[in-house]
Amino acid sequence: MYISDVKLSSLAVAEPGESYQSKTTGYRWIEVLVDCPGNLDLFTYSLPPQLEIKPGDILSVPFGSQQLGGIAIRLLNQTDLAPEKIREVEDVVSRGFFPKAYWELLNRVAAYYYTPLIQVIRIALPPGLLGRSQRRLRLTELGKKKPETQPLFTYNNPSTFLSPTAQQILELLQEQAAGHYSYHYIQQKIKSAYRGIRELLRLGLAESYLEPPRLTKPKLQKAVILIEQIDRDLTLRQREIIEVLRRNGGELWHSELLQTCSTSTSVVNTLVKKGYIIVEEREVLRAEKGVVLVGDQDKSLTSAQTNALETINSLNGFVQILLHGVTGSGKTEIYLQAIAPILHQGKSALVLVPEIGLTPQLTDRFRARFGNKVNVYHSALSDGERYDTWRQMLTGDPQVVIGTRSAIFAPLPNLGMIILDEEHDGSFKQDSPIPTYHARTVAQWRSELEHCPLILGSATPALESWISVGNPITPPPSPLPASDEGGQDVTFNNANTAIYLSLPERINSRPLPPVEIVDMRQELQEGNRSIFSRNLQDALKELQESKRQGILFIHRRGHSTFVSCRSCGFVLECPNCDVSLAYHHTEEGASQLLRCHYCNYVRSHPPHCPECSSPYLKFFGSGTQRVAQELNRQFPNLRLIRFDSDTTRNKGAHRNLLTQFTNGEADLLVGTQMLTKGLDLPQVTLVGVIAADGLLHLSDYRASERAFQTLTQVAGRAGRGEEPGRVIVQTYTPQHPVIEAVQKHDYQSFCDAELEQRQALNYPPYGRLILLRLSSLDPIQVQNTAQIIATALSSKEGFEILGPAPASILRVANRYRWQILLKFPPDVLPNLPEWTEIRALCPSSVSLTIDVDPMNIM
Ligand code: ADP
Ligand code: ZN
Ligand code: ZN
Repeated sequence: MYISDVKLSSLAVAEPGESYQSKTTGYRWIEVLVDCPGNLDLFTYSLPPQLEIKPGDILSVPFGSQQLGGIAIRLLNQTDLAPEKIREVEDVVSRGFFPKAYWELLNRVAAYYYTPLIQVIRIALPPGLLGRSQRRLRLTELGKKKPETQPLFTYNNPSTFLSPTAQQILELLQEQAAGHYSYHYIQQKIKSAYRGIRELLRLGLAESYLEPPRLTKPKLQKAVILIEQIDRDLTLRQREIIEVLRRNGGELWHSELLQTCSTSTSVVNTLVKKGYIIVEEREVLRAEKGVVLVGDQDKSLTSAQTNALETINSLNGFVQILLHGVTGSGKTEIYLQAIAPILHQGKSALVLVPEIGLTPQLTDRFRARFGNKVNVYHSALSDGERYDTWRQMLTGDPQVVIGTRSAIFAPLPNLGMIILDEEHDGSFKQDSPIPTYHARTVAQWRSELEHCPLILGSATPALESWISVGNPITPPPSPLPASDEGGQDVTFNNANTAIYLSLPERINSRPLPPVEIVDMRQELQEGNRSIFSRNLQDALKELQESKRQGILFIHRRGHSTFVSCRSCGFVLECPNCDVSLAYHHTEEGASQLLRCHYCNYVRSHPPHCPECSSPYLKFFGSGTQRVAQELNRQFPNLRLIRFDSDTTRNKGAHRNLLTQFTNGEADLLVGTQMLTKGLDLPQVTLVGVIAADGLLHLSDYRASERAFQTLTQVAGRAGRGEEPGRVIVQTYTPQHPVIEAVQKHDYQSFCDAELEQRQALNYPPYGRLILLRLSSLDPIQVQNTAQIIATALSSKEGFEILGPAPASILRVANRYRWQILLKFPPDVLPNLPEWTEIRALCPSSVSLTIDVDPMNIM
């Protein structure tokens, strides 16, 4: 199995371009990403005059004593290297490996997020593709013709003009029936083979192609196939096996058959000998496959759904659609029906979800509708699975790819639609390593480059998406001048408008569940010291008696927490910044500090509440494990499943835990963030939130938005089926505007209030941010570097500087972390002037990450 040129060429939708050398005569060199294990650097080569090279082409270059492959990255018109040290590119192995729009996308990501292009290419390609691929040479039809049998080759026979080396290679290839060898092999056999190879390529006698890494060759597995159905001379046991095969349509995997029949290989072999069955190797595609519920039909849509779908179907080219539908309003059904015509047109669709935890459920729904046209692509797949799925995408067959953040780079050649489900979710943003991209931003660029609609779906849209509605969209343009990297003709068109579609009601007019707010201060006053309020305790008892199911949500995030008074609800805040102070757990016995992560204000942890003098001043933070212990103590008969990053670490764990829960093997699902996202479990009637406060007072300007979104999403898991739902939110600050908005299911008034504050302080979605994160093993050096960079930046114009300040968890994995926040005025792109100079201020012991549009400023 190999990727032939034919398959790869399906990627090459770009037109053959004009020569860059001729158009822009200045280019004399090219930077090449050389295909050599562990290499991160770009090497400069000179351009042979007759060879036309474009960024994205696969090249062959001399490297030490070898001839290696590489990707052409960037044309240069100047270099600091001494001309005699620069070697020449040997040849172009494959043109247009990256289609034009895709290459442009990668370049844009690199430029906008201040990331070397190679690091962007790395996330786009499956692991090790280039590193382990092998270039091979094979004969063309012309090359296969031997001179003596072909009249064509007598007079004017190209082989008569072949150099001796080329002649030798031709003969070597012709001797072998299949007529192909790796470059490596040929180079070992024949001295200075490369020139000869080039000659054969030029004359059309041979062609070169890439063979994928050996490690990821297709996986084979034994299958048992029934061929004879008349059971003469069979024992009872053997007859049973035949029967099992027959019931399974005459085919089963060998291992499956052994297991189902509790039998051994020797029994199977006997049946083979008797001629009843055969065993053969079959290729298994290592794509993650779920249970396929066959034959799911389009649902007949509600009128709100119909309106939305008709609008979507009428669109052409790039349009951004915000599909704002309350939880359970049928957004997924719209995605399904919007994708069906796309597949009919022979195009593919990309569906992004925030968490891997969400993919099994969603994937099952998509597979039920589109069968094996659905592929899953995310970083938790094994290398082999990723490789197979990647290969599947390159075929160009119309398909649906469902994946997490990085799937935005899925190399689908013919993209007809991109969907971001739960588009508000912070998981779409990568914090580290670079590029610190936001999948929504990249999706906007990609839809625009591929001229296809982008659907952003959510019950609680991000404020960015919300304010873009009805206004002309301005997706963050590339800071690159459009022609710099290769004369792309794709430009942004700001004339496009965004479309707002609303689904204000749940399916079948099911009501949104009522949200009860429990004041935990009251509970304490009345003598309840448990982490469960009396209402929640009653609800849990009832759950057990009525045999229904519930979800308990616990907020847990990092190690840092805020400090609040359990008597009056007072929260300690920074006097300068309007954010809560973070509690710092330092060494044992050291004094406890509270710190602001924006301006570095510090104070000691007071012994009493500054507001009411209560000694019950506590920092918050309560993990799932602690809650689970407490549940076991108070409700020993309640069967629970913990669903958090600890229990879902293993492959397939998400699906297994959810399946257990769906099958009624537990009464309660206890977990973190993951529970809030898109799960559609109709039998869940109760949703409890242990301490909403953990969400409300994070030391981050986005805390309120995130809290509103999370709580609304959690609440939305209740009452999705026939039975009405009940939501209990425990808090120490019931009067908080977020809590009030959640109780009323009132997105609009939450937005209005929140946007007003953001505008006043010039935070996104108005102003834009860049966060410089520095870290080092040396606490002094990182602090000094942060100071030096901040000073250097203070001489520049166009932004405000906050900090430097230490990160909320100063030391992580022995590295000390500092940060500088740059705040840009509205309507200006976040642009770091002379960033290479800034980077140069960092000694090698300090690492610097430039986080553009950061989501977490902690
Ligand atoms: P959302 O994605 O907005 O949370 P879903 O698409 O999951 O909503 O829909 C919620 C439930 O309603 C699902 O079980 C889905 O199968 C069902 N549903 C969606 N649309 C319809 C419809 N038009 N008729 C009947 N049931 C529907
Ligand atoms: Zn502050
Ligand atoms: Zn108090």
